[in-house]
Amino acid sequence: MTERTFSIIKPDATRRNLTGKVNAVIEDAGLRIVAQRRIKMTEAQAKKFYEVHAERPFYGELVEFMTSAPVVVQVLEGDNAVARYREVMGATNPAQAADGTIRKLYAESVGENSVHGSDSAENAKIEIAQFFTDADIVG
Ligand code: GDP
Repeated sequence: MTERTFSIIKPDATRRNLTGKVNAVIEDAGLRIVAQRRIKMTEAQAKKFYEVHAERPFYGELVEFMTSAPVVVQVLEGDNAVARYREVMGATNPAQAADGTIRKLYAESVGENSVHGSDSAENAKIEIAQFFTDADIVG
């Protein structure tokens, strides 16, 4: 089933000029980048995006990190794109991520872990809509 998911290349990765390397892993996994934009997230955008984590102790740190440097927001399309991208990203904590995953290859810590990917098709729709309109997405 072809579906779409939302991805963010996070500040730790853009800072180290890893956008192309991360995109190579995404494309090699059979996912197509159908929309992409480099932005500096505002505090309001980051707070809204991560509002499900508002009560977690790391929320403030997470918002600060996500606004600390540019990010690349993306829409990925492919067969079972949500689950496939979660596989390609690897575990949240890079120490637990499988070989060949983006986080194993590039992440620095559980917080500064290089990429975000939606955890369900429903959340993918909500997250995509926060950053893109239909006209931005060329499948
Ligand atoms: P994900 O779906 O694999 O990204 O993981 P979660 O939904 O559990 O967490 C969202 C994001 O919050 C993670 O990708 C990290 O950037 C950040 N995060 C999660 N746990 C921690 C933590 O213990 N400390 C810090 N600083 N950030 C965390």
